[in-house]
Amino acid sequence: MKGLYPWQHELWQRWAGLRKRLPHAILLKGAQGIGKLDFAMNLAQSLLCEQPHVDGMACGACSSCHWFEQETHPDFRLLQPDALSGTEDDDERDGSKKKKPSRQISVEQVRSLFDFANLSAYRGGHRVVLIHPAEAMNTNAANALLKTLEEPSGKMLIILVSHKPQQLLPTILSRCLSLVVTMPSVEESTAWLQQQGMQNPGVMLAQAGFAPLAAAHLAEEVTAADEYGRFLQEIRQPTKLDALALAEQLQKAEPIKVVHWLQQWCYDLGSAKLAGKIRYNAELTDTIKNISCKIDIMDLQRYQRELLIAKREALHPLNPKLQLESILLAYRQMMLAAS
Ligand SMILES: [Zn+2]
Repeated sequence: MKGLYPWQHELWQRWAGLRKRLPHAILLKGAQGIGKLDFAMNLAQSLLCEQPHVDGMACGACSSCHWFEQETHPDFRLLQPDALSGTEDDDERDGSKKKKPSRQISVEQVRSLFDFANLSAYRGGHRVVLIHPAEAMNTNAANALLKTLEEPSGKMLIILVSHKPQQLLPTILSRCLSLVVTMPSVEESTAWLQQQGMQNPGVMLAQAGFAPLAAAHLAEEVTAADEYGRFLQEIRQPTKLDALALAEQLQKAEPIKVVHWLQQWCYDLGSAKLAGKIRYNAELTDTIKNISCKIDIMDLQRYQRELLIAKREALHPLNPKLQLESILLAYRQMMLAAS
């Protein structure tokens, strides 16, 4: 569990004051990328915690905290669009187009709260519902929520997190106690980003509209793009590939991501060979066609099976670097056999 961000302590104190007379619903509003959701999660966990600290923060050690952190707490519900909660579909290899996960919170999701609201709390304490981002509720969902808000059940807190509260129904807004999560100052954000290891946060921060979490996310994307560039640079020259050096360079990337890149790369090699088509790395069409005509399709398919296994292991790698080395060495071996 992430703790509070340095710019959230004042707001936390405000919340601690409210705790004695708990409202039925809270709206946490503020700009995107400043940590509203993390604040809300802290708030939810602290309400469910069996032995919160004096400052109201969750203890992180009781069984309730344990369940919360495992995302299995029976008295907590998080409603968010499938697009935010869904794990990435890793079955793109068959080339079929899957339905995109929804960006809305559906009426069914909100209706699932009706039962939850009518049960008594499993642990005998509070029950907490977190809806994020609240503006993702479609009209039907919002109307269904209104019903829950109109008939509040004791000891249940609904937390709405929103960066576009103006899009919420006025009737919902009027039933929530609003807490504004303020934008941290540039100095606070800069100091925090430096603490996270960012060298010169200024540019990134400005690009992210001065929202520190958004800036951190942006930086991750830039790093990932760099890493992918480096990966392609090496992998496209298979006979020169230094697998160990590349594994070293990609150490910061999650192994599962690298396996995923290799899967896409191999998909392209196979598809180029068998069908003359390239799906993922179209800008490298010539290179891929050149490599693919030398490659033995049986070897490639064998390697693709290895990648599938590696992907499963990559979820909980014992030694990420060793795993990267081994799949890259196997790639090189396959390529040397082909040349
Ligand atoms: Zn606890």
